[in-house]
Amino acid sequence: MTVVAVDGPSASGKSTISRMLAQRLGFIYVDSGAMYRTVTWKALEEGLDVNDTAQVIAMLDRIRIHFDICDQQVRMFIDGIFPGETVREPRVAEKVSIVAAIPEVRRVLVAHQRSLTQFGSLVMEGRDIGSVVFPNTPHKFYIDANPEERAKRRRKDFEAMQIATSTDGVAQALAQRDKLDSTRATSPLQVAPGATVVDNSINPPERTVEIILEQITRQQRAQ
Ligand code: C5P
Repeated sequence: MTVVAVDGPSASGKSTISRMLAQRLGFIYVDSGAMYRTVTWKALEEGLDVNDTAQVIAMLDRIRIHFDICDQQVRMFIDGIFPGETVREPRVAEKVSIVAAIPEVRRVLVAHQRSLTQFGSLVMEGRDIGSVVFPNTPHKFYIDANPEERAKRRRKDFEAMQIATSTDGVAQALAQRDKLDSTRATSPLQVAPGATVVDNSINPPERTVEIILEQITRQQRAQ
């Protein structure tokens, strides 16, 4: 079983690259951010105050999480519901870093993430995949891009969902989320030891994917 870990900040382009990599390698794509978003979505559906850690932990004990594979991608269900694109809405994005900073939430989701190798070899994207979830994989990448490029990308995502935003507003929200993700006590966003840092500001995704595939081939030869 092979795991390719792809970490990096929001809107660095890591989703596009991870999906393309999974397709090229014939691996299953896992968006671990969507898992944190799905738990956050559920808490909001239940009307919980996500700043009240005890409420979120009590919810975790109540809910049933399961997974399936659709189009070579893992989907996470809570109590039989797959929320799909709803987890991309700004109301979820605004709260997800608060929920993701709760150690119990991370413990539960990391255990699920590790269990996904039951489906086959994986390309998993996130913040702590190379550092915490699969620290022993030799294939670790950290995708970064400059803040302007990231804000432009995220704004495009929102436009595609017909959600009105300004580039400044998006840049501010990203900076706020980066700060929360990088400074939290449990599994902060960081470059994992041994990870290859790839700057995705200028190259088209196809080129970045080629660079990563070449590196994976070299790593496999060295094993
Ligand atoms: O990747 P995405 O922007 O969808 O992730 C949403 C949020 O989920 C991140 O801002 C972060 O707070 C959290 N996250 C995390 N660990 C991961 C993936 C995402 O804490 N492995």
